[in-house]
Amino acid sequence: MNLSDVFKNVEESQTLKISAKAKEMIKEGIDVINLAVGEPDFDTPDYIKNFAKKAIDENKTRYTDASGIVELREAIAEKLKKENGINAKKENIVVTNGAKEAIFLSLFSILNPDDEVMVILPYFTSYTEVIKLCRAKPVLIEKNNGKITKEELENKKTDKTKLIMICSPNNPDGHVIDEDEFKAIKDFAIKNNVFILSDEIYENIIFDDNKNKSFASDEELFKKGLVITINGMSKAFSMTGWRVGYVHARDEIIKNIKVAKGHISSNTSSISQYAALEALKGFRENIEIFENNTEEFKKRRDVLVSILKDDKNISLKSPSGSFYAFIDISKILNRKYKDRTIKSDLDICEILLKDFNLSITPGLAFGDGNFVRLSFAADIKKIEKAANIIKEFSEKIV
Ligand code: PLP
Repeated sequence: MNLSDVFKNVEESQTLKISAKAKEMIKEGIDVINLAVGEPDFDTPDYIKNFAKKAIDENKTRYTDASGIVELREAIAEKLKKENGINAKKENIVVTNGAKEAIFLSLFSILNPDDEVMVILPYFTSYTEVIKLCRAKPVLIEKNNGKITKEELENKKTDKTKLIMICSPNNPDGHVIDEDEFKAIKDFAIKNNVFILSDEIYENIIFDDNKNKSFASDEELFKKGLVITINGMSKAFSMTGWRVGYVHARDEIIKNIKVAKGHISSNTSSISQYAALEALKGFRENIEIFENNTEEFKKRRDVLVSILKDDKNISLKSPSGSFYAFIDISKILNRKYKDRTIKSDLDICEILLKDFNLSITPGLAFGDGNFVRLSFAADIKKIEKAANIIKEFSEKIV
């Protein structure tokens, strides 16, 4: 029997696959450092957990409006106004099962078969696959000297280009969009009437003097209704398992998303929604928890960068945000480790897992096989050990 052709072309999530392999080894009693993970290692703060327990005791356990409880959508609108400068209304928000569902529903609501979607390299592994699930076509955009430029966008534009996907701070390389890049993307979108999907899930995990600006805070873009803002509770609030994300978009898009969500999954877990409500309401009051988490990520980044910075075989541009380091391993390719010629980023990840019990992710999962991704969402001692393992491995390359 013929199943859907869509899946001939769509890959399983590589990050989840590799993380699962490391978890298997850990279960077998092997002491693996698992840095393939994409989630903060901090616990969900107590003030959020306590409110969720209360919601259960108060029997807030029934179906809710498919687009989310009104109080939560109001709190999100308030957050988008205060923290992001977006003139948001609760009617333009849908609460989803994580940011992933928000991304899928947005693309599903906008794209027609064969539409083209621009994706900046390196990209979050799910972007290209979700585009393909929507029967549209990802078009990869290279940066020029580490920057997104209008020229590159214009060069790749066709009459089928409908949307550009932006993630800042970026997974997997921690890149934060600067003012020039913001302007290039804005001008391109306005000139060509192209939507911008702005994934801001790492907005709070940002280092040094870097600043993130929400695309929908730009008045011109907002008025034209070109921006779809994606965010969620997973990373900033250490709530990956609760599955709460959200999308803000103009009326017609939100209408489609509501219809799709109502038929596909209905509401996000009611308990998780109440937890998210308290998380957002208590954000400023508990700001110390979140600032400390970001500070801890920064310390880990600095340790990693300081250990790897002078390595002759690998290079690492210090990430400006998120909790990932994208390490350039191109100088190792086609050289030898023991008797084995290293052919790919996957070979490196396999060797690190088998011989050194270190789990990281091949860069090809993010569109670039000259890199590997290491998540620094783990105890600083583990990060230090992992960096030294990579150094030791690099020294053994001939
Ligand atoms: N967007 C990016 C860039 C991510 O890295 C992730 C998770 O790894 C997500 C979205 C999905 O997050 P959620 O847990 O809210 O579905």
